[in-house]
Amino acid sequence: MLKINNLHVKLEEEDKRILNGLTLDIPAGQVHAIMGPNGSGKSTLSYVLSGRDGYIVTEGGATLQGQDLLQMDPEQRAAAGLFLAFQYPIEIPGVGNMTFLRTAVNAQRKARGEDEMSSGEFLKAVRQKAKELQIDADMLKRPVNVGFSGGEKKRNEILQMAMLEPRMCIMDETDSGLDVDAMRLVADGVNALRAPDRSFLVITHYQRLLNHIQPDVVHILSNGRIVKSGGPELALQVEDEGYGDLLSEAG
Ligand code: ADP
Ligand code: MG
Ligand code: MG
Repeated sequence: MLKINNLHVKLEEEDKRILNGLTLDIPAGQVHAIMGPNGSGKSTLSYVLSGRDGYIVTEGGATLQGQDLLQMDPEQRAAAGLFLAFQYPIEIPGVGNMTFLRTAVNAQRKARGEDEMSSGEFLKAVRQKAKELQIDADMLKRPVNVGFSGGEKKRNEILQMAMLEPRMCIMDETDSGLDVDAMRLVADGVNALRAPDRSFLVITHYQRLLNHIQPDVVHILSNGRIVKSGGPELALQVEDEGYGDLLSEAG
């Protein structure tokens, strides 16, 4: 599904290298987790994959279902099935949440050569999914994320993901700032979306979320590259021992 090959990334503004030869292969249907200390490059990876300005790829590449991601603009990446749930979801004053979702869903369908959803179909789907995520009707009418609590913003990201039906979902610390109940809702939302033709990259600083979203593979990121990969037990080891020993052992 997603193949990242020897990716090197630096900042456009200053001569700072952030990713240093990152290689990662996520097959269809799998959930991979990336853990790593603050500043190791986790968010940068998600930004570069989704096409945010300000980063320069100096070496390596990334493909989604065989298509060269780095050659596409952000809209094309979304149409190809890439979705990024932000660590810090942005507020969009003046744009109703429901309108935003409907516009995004129909743009996505159009790009895939599918018919638009009728308003009846859309309403039914969005209400059902919002209910599952305990997002109330009022939040659907308000401007996107404006005045939402931290937990509400994160749940709204999962609602967007559920409505857009992406192939490759990247979640950047969606668990940060969530209490245990909200984390459970987010995890249930993700688990409901797991499918043989959909993959997930779950970026997290803590092991906690991975008790609820069982990953197939866990990777440890340090200084912009993956220094160790393993099964879910690797996340437990991080929880117990911290990153220190793992990183020194990896050199
Ligand atoms: P993480 O998500 O793992 O905490 P980030 O990808 O946010 O790490 O950041 C990696 C490193 O790159 C950090 O040292 C961070 O300060 C730096 N960095 C990332 N983006 C920028 C930017 N736009 N300007 C300056 N420094 C940046
Ligand atoms: Mg960080
Ligand atoms: Mg981050």
